[in-house]
Amino acid sequence: MENETVSKNFIEQEIDKDLAEGVYDHVCTRFPPEPNGYLHIGHAKSILLNYGLSQKYNGEFHMRFDDTNPTKEKVEFVDSIKEDIKWLGADWKEHLYFASSYFEKMYECAVKLIKKGKAYVCDLSPDEIRQYRGTLTEPGKESPYRNRSVEENLELFTAMKEGKFQDGERVLRAKIDMASPNINMRDPILYRVAHMHHHNTGDAWCIYPMYDFAHPIEDAIEGITHSICTLEFEDHRPLYDWVVKECEFKNPPRQIEFAKLYLTNVVTGKRYIKKLVEDGIVDGWDDPRLVSIAALRRRGFTPESIKMFVDMCGVSKSQSSVDYAMLEYCIREDLKMKKPRMMAVLDPIKLVIDNYPEGQVEYLDVANNLENEELGSRKVPFCRELYIEREDFMEEPPKKYFRLFPGNEVRLMHAYFVKCESFVKDENGNITEVHCTYDPETKAGSGFTGRKVKGTIHWVPAPYAKKAEVRLYENLIDEKKGVYNKEDGSLNLNPNSLKIIKDAYVEPSFDGTKAYDSFQFVRNGYYCVDAKDSVPEALVFNRIVSLKSSFKLPK
Ligand code: ATP
Ligand code: MG
Repeated sequence: MENETVSKNFIEQEIDKDLAEGVYDHVCTRFPPEPNGYLHIGHAKSILLNYGLSQKYNGEFHMRFDDTNPTKEKVEFVDSIKEDIKWLGADWKEHLYFASSYFEKMYECAVKLIKKGKAYVCDLSPDEIRQYRGTLTEPGKESPYRNRSVEENLELFTAMKEGKFQDGERVLRAKIDMASPNINMRDPILYRVAHMHHHNTGDAWCIYPMYDFAHPIEDAIEGITHSICTLEFEDHRPLYDWVVKECEFKNPPRQIEFAKLYLTNVVTGKRYIKKLVEDGIVDGWDDPRLVSIAALRRRGFTPESIKMFVDMCGVSKSQSSVDYAMLEYCIREDLKMKKPRMMAVLDPIKLVIDNYPEGQVEYLDVANNLENEELGSRKVPFCRELYIEREDFMEEPPKKYFRLFPGNEVRLMHAYFVKCESFVKDENGNITEVHCTYDPETKAGSGFTGRKVKGTIHWVPAPYAKKAEVRLYENLIDEKKGVYNKEDGSLNLNPNSLKIIKDAYVEPSFDGTKAYDSFQFVRNGYYCVDAKDSVPEALVFNRIVSLKSSFKLPK
């Protein structure tokens, strides 16, 4: 029990304290995305954190679209966000909300503040408001409109609502403290005039609430207890608390901040991803080189691997950046025992077994995953002509090369020993065929205990193999240069981030695979059937991750 207490993160410790002190008698968390883009790995952290807490404390988890800003929102994003959150396994049950459905309630809150003398309509222009605000070292100056009567404010605010003013002509501001050391408290804007169409409320409103006013009200209306957000909102917390207090919500929610998740040399900013999509550098928001949740899913990541990753990152108050290799470690760990290990040849050359009877075929029984018997076995045809990887043969091998070269014997994985007798070159000196003889005594699983060989190579049976396209990915960013170009702020792109292999061969056992199915390609890596471009007659695989890694688990 004691250990459990020690391993709790700081948010859990705060929640424990609140429950113990009776501040709250239950836990209710939320995930509040703005529907203005696709979710990425950073959002996954927030989703899993909030959902995880609701599970741990037997509480509630709300899914809420923070759609108070009509300029940027799109219905397309609402759908993709829902799909991504479901895929991650965060179940909001019946708790799906839209902040825009609280507009009436927010308006009432504003009226309440005006009546209490805590808010006023201000005629200063946006520029003047900025000038009056002061700086970090100088206090602000009070607006000449600050001391309007309640009646006049009510009248003007109604006029704002009724569309009597142009955009930017009037705002409603909180009356707090222009001399506050916290700039957020210097009479922040609560409502602005904006004659814009809203995807949910249409043209019903021409005034829209500002985030800092709307968000605490949304939380309070839904009975959120712990409103968890990222560190940049720490300085806004006094305003959050002011809003819920002055609007007189019972059992007001409490804001707790944690550090954003950043991945080293990885682009997560919506603005940049949007530009990559628009410039055609990537194939949409789900291009497997991106770290949007849709892209990770298409690449072949699993919800389990993302959860493992987020757990390993932990929850903290200090900003840091995590290595992408840690995410790769998590997907390898997740797939290792779950996925069949298949043979695929990405850079094929033909291997002919001269003493294997022409036309003969035997079906070898091959375990799908030697570490997990539950995955069963499959039959792989073996015959006279196979494909092997070009790099598994060398005419003149260096020292310690144990694969095929003239005179050397290796094991064909799951099959026989073969010895290289000769090879064929074309007019350009490229090797086109390797000729071998096999020893029928050496069949795998036959109990053969004779001589040993040092190398084992994989293969596919040439007449039965399926041709496939394989896409090899590297970081979209040139890691040597870092993410941003210092001169113009553009991204430093890696020109080799996508390599397409058109004529790879895979075992016939891949018949019947569907989108998102993933496999280990033995001696190579983990691959996933591409959900957009793969069809049964022409399979397309995405490399999720290679088998090798230099990643070390953090202590
Ligand atoms: P924007 O720049 O458009 O505001 P955003 O990434 O903050 O983008 P939101 O839709 O406002 O997008 O985010 C929803 C939630 O996800 C917020 O609670 C936010 O704090 C959280 N979040 C966003 N980015 C990260 C991140 N990198 N790590 C952890 N949480 C994040
Ligand atoms: Mg945001």
